[in-house]
Amino acid sequence: MTDAPKSAAPQPRPAVMTIDAYVPGGAKVAAVNRVLKLSANEGPFGPPPSAREAAAKAAAEMNRYPDGGSVELRAAIGARFGLDPARIVCGTGSDELIQHICHIYGGPGTDIVMSMHGFTMYQIAGTYAGSRVLKAPEINLTTHVDSMLGAVTPETTIVFVANPNNPTGSLLPESEMQRLRDGLRPDILLVLDSAYAEYVEAPGYNAGERMVDEGENTIMLRTFSKIFGLGGMRVGWGYGPPAIIDAINRVRGVFNVNFIAQAAAVAALAEPGWVEMNKAHNTLWRAKLSAALEKAGVTAHPTEGNFILTDFGTAERASAMDAFFKSRGIIVRGMGAYDLPHCLRITVGTDEECGLVAEAVSGFMATQNG
Ligand SMILES: *Cc1c(COP(=O)(O)O)cnc(C)c1O
Repeated sequence: MTDAPKSAAPQPRPAVMTIDAYVPGGAKVAAVNRVLKLSANEGPFGPPPSAREAAAKAAAEMNRYPDGGSVELRAAIGARFGLDPARIVCGTGSDELIQHICHIYGGPGTDIVMSMHGFTMYQIAGTYAGSRVLKAPEINLTTHVDSMLGAVTPETTIVFVANPNNPTGSLLPESEMQRLRDGLRPDILLVLDSAYAEYVEAPGYNAGERMVDEGENTIMLRTFSKIFGLGGMRVGWGYGPPAIIDAINRVRGVFNVNFIAQAAAVAALAEPGWVEMNKAHNTLWRAKLSAALEKAGVTAHPTEGNFILTDFGTAERASAMDAFFKSRGIIVRGMGAYDLPHCLRITVGTDEECGLVAEAVSGFMATQNG
């Protein structure tokens, strides 16, 4: 007797089917002419003009393979941030680097620790790699060092912290981050995801390079998707100890960052005043919008990013608010996937967009009793 096949079709590893696919921020609303996309924390001013120009120019050579080592881009990043290019690796967005880190240092029999409302990509990538992903409770929607340390098991190999965190906007002070590193075994890789570093105003903030330089077990991740306005180009980078960069280089896509994306990113770094202008706008309008939201009767959580986690009290009210936004062509991010169904995450847009958001929220809240 021959064994009947378990199933006629190819079967994914069971872990894969436990993953809920990442739901990107929406971009379209039916029957509305103008859409305000405030769902993905993109910069509000389009791409830097010089990046657009460089991309258009590079398009003429898209028959060529890109430089697999992103040499010019790494040199430009190094010059801009004062870092050794040899210790930088570029990725197809920092998402690609998160994936590789999980597969290299995680896998079956290992645990990955993140905070309760941390970036869901860690959970997706970690589970895909075969790790168990453990979520440490937060206090006031902020990563809590003692609970992170408490979640660490003998099997833990990676700890992820986004700082500032998406979607909560909260920031862990440098001293707390150091306390986390000091409390972790040296063989545990600490991943500092600083996707929103450029927006931080809190004094004493370090995006991670200091801690990377002080040991062999911390990597910092950065992205061109947020303040640099290149989300659609998919460029991110990591700065880490040589052994970790070497491991990633062995497994990443050989030509991971495409030709046009490399050219756009190099140009974006050189755009005069871009980061300063975007940061100043964001600092002003996240405060103004937060105040307007509070005035309308909802809770705007403190944020160091370019988005505001807004608490509507109940899941019902948050989803009614979401529908109200949509009817006005405003797309924000529902937080069900983050176990925060009573909240919506709203990206800080242009002056006009922030005004329209504030108007919508106060209009909606006026229809709510109590
Ligand atoms: C947006 C974001 C990223 C960046 O992702 P890319 O793949 O570089 O676009 C990484 N981490 C966090 C926490 C983010 O919010």
